[in-house]
Amino acid sequence: MPGAEEKSDLPLPALTEVWTPVPPVVSVAPSGVPSDALVLFNGKDLNAWTSVKTPDAPAPWTIEGDAMVVSPKSGNIRTKATFGDLQLHLEFRTPAEVKGKSQGRGNSGIFFMGIYELQVLDSYENPTYVNGQAASIYKQHAPLVNASHKPGEWQTHDVIWTAPRFDPQGKLILPARMTVFHNGVLVQNHAELKGGTVFRGPPSYKAHAPKLPLELQDHNNLTAFRNIWVREL
Ligand code: MG
Repeated sequence: MPGAEEKSDLPLPALTEVWTPVPPVVSVAPSGVPSDALVLFNGKDLNAWTSVKTPDAPAPWTIEGDAMVVSPKSGNIRTKATFGDLQLHLEFRTPAEVKGKSQGRGNSGIFFMGIYELQVLDSYENPTYVNGQAASIYKQHAPLVNASHKPGEWQTHDVIWTAPRFDPQGKLILPARMTVFHNGVLVQNHAELKGGTVFRGPPSYKAHAPKLPLELQDHNNLTAFRNIWVREL
């Protein structure tokens, strides 16, 4: 019966309504890029990037069509801008022509803050150590599933990155976390990082600045990237 609730002893619904602050409006372009995103690569130039090997030199990778392609042995590239917590969208393509095996197939990587690697690899019917396959947090967490497309096909990584926090003395307060969707499939669920990525030995944390550049890896394979954007959180 209308009005019956108002006579009850239950709290008024309005008491638990929150009206402010109003979330900002974000629109999404047909390209899928949110209006508050910072585009790091739009298919035209590498102006947002710089060389790691030769600091402040232009990023040494090549543009092919609407993609950037690793120039083997030229070194990693990193953003001119620095970031803490992030939402990242990135598309990658490992070479259609399969050469090599295991870690030698389409290897690259996304280094958050230049320190913590989300693995990029051709993991389509390509056995390797599972904490080093595509969408692993390298040498720390295997992906929950293998959502890899075939070599030569474009794939996506969508990542929520939470930077680690250190106190003024450099002691770790909160570890870094990563949530990753590979081709739209959840592969890392709020995974806790054990420290910076290392090839040999166990990972550990070393205090660093709250914001640092995002880095892409040159692992001597012709992996391509396109449509890269971030939203600072
Ligand atoms: Mg790698």
